[in-house]
Amino acid sequence: SKAKLFDQNTDVKVSFKDVAGLEGAKEEVQEIVDFLKQPEKYTSLGGKIPKGALLVGPPGTGKTLLAKAVAGEAKVPFFSLSGSDFVEMFVGVGASRVRDLFKQAKEKSPSIIFIDEIDAIGRARGKSNFSGSNDERENTLNQLLTEMDGFGTNTNVIVIAATNRADVLDKALMRAGRFDRQIYVDLPDVRERKEIFDVHLRPLKKVADELDTDFMAKQTPGFSGADIANVCNEAALIAARKGKQAVGKQDFLDAVDRIVGGLEKKNKIIT
Ligand code: ATP
Repeated sequence: SKAKLFDQNTDVKVSFKDVAGLEGAKEEVQEIVDFLKQPEKYTSLGGKIPKGALLVGPPGTGKTLLAKAVAGEAKVPFFSLSGSDFVEMFVGVGASRVRDLFKQAKEKSPSIIFIDEIDAIGRARGKSNFSGSNDERENTLNQLLTEMDGFGTNTNVIVIAATNRADVLDKALMRAGRFDRQIYVDLPDVRERKEIFDVHLRPLKKVADELDTDFMAKQTPGFSGADIANVCNEAALIAARKGKQAVGKQDFLDAVDRIVGGLEKKNKIIT
């Protein structure tokens, strides 16, 4: 149902070792972990801790995973909502939902607020889109800006937002003191794809020795982390269906074919 205002997780188990590749992005968010853990250290010379960071990159590249890992590493609560949830909302609900979210996060601070698909709320004002009432969306965006501006210097709530469309965002969001840090989360290269395979092989019960993740990385150009997670899962299902005792190389290749097929269909619908 739509009754739930936002998600709250006070015991996040995700850590940086669950996030494969993304070395640059991990280094940048490590700073946020440090701010959350030892705010006094950073403010001792009068500096202000940033309030927000924007993760920018294609779908399925690990933005949500990375934000969760920040909360897991800093051992702070993780509050999250998705911009697209606002699309179906009644008038007046969006702004009050944002207010409640910030109130809760401040009560539990230090904490992280994560807003996925922020472009659904944060499109440049005055430009219409098809996602419901524009006034409602603007009210929600204005409330978000108000909440971020209202943070005292010692609030210690950091807002992480994610988007794959930074170009459509309202410039007001990027202003100093809001989402003034932008962190790029790109599709993985071949070396990173190998690392992602290694992470997602861990939960599989038995993988045949013949499987070489270097080889699999070479077979999957253009795949996101989410696609690779999907390949590993499909491969385990394909092998199990055949009654095999271990997931083999051919099961992975069949899973890749299946996912490439799915991606092609998806692209056909979009274009
Ligand atoms: P979207 O833009 O669609 O919301 P996203 O960038 O937030 O996507 P995630 O939801 O974090 O992507 O990724 C989906 C899943 O894909 C993760 O839960 C994880 O299983 C896998 N995944 C993606 N990137 C990585 C990565 N770098 N390392 C390990 N797993 C990954």
